[in-house]
Amino acid sequence: MAESAARRHRVVIVGAGFGGLFAARSLRRADVDITLINGTAYHLFQPLLYQVATGILSEGEIAPPIREILKRQDNVDVKLGWVTDVDVEARRVSVEAPGIDYTVDYDTLIVGAGASQSYFGNDQFADHAPGMKSIDDALELRARIFGAFELADLHTDPAERERWMTFVVVGAGPTGVEMAGQIAELAHRNLPGQYRHIDPRKARIILIDAVDAVLKTFGDRLSTRALRRLHLLGVEVELETKVVGVDATGIEVETPRGHERIGAMTKMWAAGVAAPPLARRLAEAAGAATDRAGRIRVEPDCTLPGHPEIFAVGDMMALDDLPGVAQVAIQSGRHAADQIKRRLAGRETGQRFTYFDKGSMATISRFSAVASIGKVHVSGFLGWLMWLVVHLLYLVGFKNRVTAVLHWFVSFLGRGRSERVATFQQAYARAAVRAYGDPFERRRVPAGADGGGE
Ligand SMILES: Cc1cc2nc3c(=O)[nH]c(=O)nc-3n(C[C@H](O)[C@H](O)[C@H](O)COP(=O)(O)OP(=O)(O)OC[C@H]3O[C@@H](n4cnc5c(N)ncnc54)[C@H](O)[C@@H]3O)c2cc1C
Repeated sequence: MAESAARRHRVVIVGAGFGGLFAARSLRRADVDITLINGTAYHLFQPLLYQVATGILSEGEIAPPIREILKRQDNVDVKLGWVTDVDVEARRVSVEAPGIDYTVDYDTLIVGAGASQSYFGNDQFADHAPGMKSIDDALELRARIFGAFELADLHTDPAERERWMTFVVVGAGPTGVEMAGQIAELAHRNLPGQYRHIDPRKARIILIDAVDAVLKTFGDRLSTRALRRLHLLGVEVELETKVVGVDATGIEVETPRGHERIGAMTKMWAAGVAAPPLARRLAEAAGAATDRAGRIRVEPDCTLPGHPEIFAVGDMMALDDLPGVAQVAIQSGRHAADQIKRRLAGRETGQRFTYFDKGSMATISRFSAVASIGKVHVSGFLGWLMWLVVHLLYLVGFKNRVTAVLHWFVSFLGRGRSERVATFQQAYARAAVRAYGDPFERRRVPAGADGGGE
């Protein structure tokens, strides 16, 4: 990695999620030129997407502009675009942005392109059951959820009204539990008294999973507590239930009781993840193996086998069965940056990435969350307070933290939802984009990738 006197070492970072952004920040004092390429102009704080979908937070609060976050870091050039290919011989990435294609050369490449939603080979489900991966998904769901109550209020046929008042969430991991809990709070706490023809409290919220427990990764005790809390909120939990069909007016399931159909206009999918298309492309180019979900099998130091100049970090790397969580992305992004700094300083490299598990948590409703930190398992109000502090710490930007706290006051202490705007374009644009053929729809799961649970 000897550099010519004329130019500095060029680091290209693909993805400004937790992995990419923290890698860039860790290199702020390094003698390198960084190009940070991201498909959107903002960094997305995915753990709070469900609060955008249920009207608590605005999208701006969880998606600050990347160039604003990095405005004081002189060695970064932020570029908009989707990386479509990597030429590992020429050390060059190809990028597409609306109306312009370009390439960027690198000396070291860090790829943190995250994960895509997986429908386990049933991509057609997406039209009727949006996932929860992007701001577009969250705004579409918000439009569908609030729109459903409006349409229920208009319909006089009881069966039709019931379909509009039934909400199905597929996947009982943290995202599914958080969504179901928040829709239940909307129906029972926020919306009553605002409609003349329906009682929102009669809404059915159904949470479905193929496994036999909610929040299974949190262990038996917290899982049982979460289930009890969901029942208290009025959520119907259907476990060991497999979704076999999704259409405009309902969902087909195989339950322990047999085949059933649930009439529901509003469905959401929080069930599976798989690596993004770029992971497969990069693995092919570099001759690296991938796991079942399409994630790249990396060396212990997060580099690709035979390519010490390419790092894969975060959700798209497969290493030691690490989970797809924010801390893995943050810590692996920082590890890649440290390795680059060591190389430039002429020090020994190849150190193994060791993950420090800070625990996991999920909210169920206001003032109620479960948190698992090492051997400590906390639930209820204490868990919720921990959740609040951790999320405030990691939300990017002082302004965003202040307004998020204000909105949490409105929703959790009061009975309001500050962000209830639902537009027709948000509700229907997915179908239009599909019909039009969106050349930038990059986050679809490559055919053949099985996906994994949340
Ligand atoms: C709804 C939801 C809730 C979650 N809740 C939690 C939680 O409570 N706690 C927790 O620890 N984790 C949670 N996670 C997981 C956590 O958000 C991820 O593990 C983390 O975001 C992974 O970081 P990353 O940098 O690998 O990818 P991401 O944060 O997904 O970032 C990837 C970035 O790459 C960009 N990108 C992708 N492909 C390309 C391309 N080809 N070219 C250019 N740019 C590209 C994307 O636009 C994106 O900005 C949640 C995830 C979701 C979806």
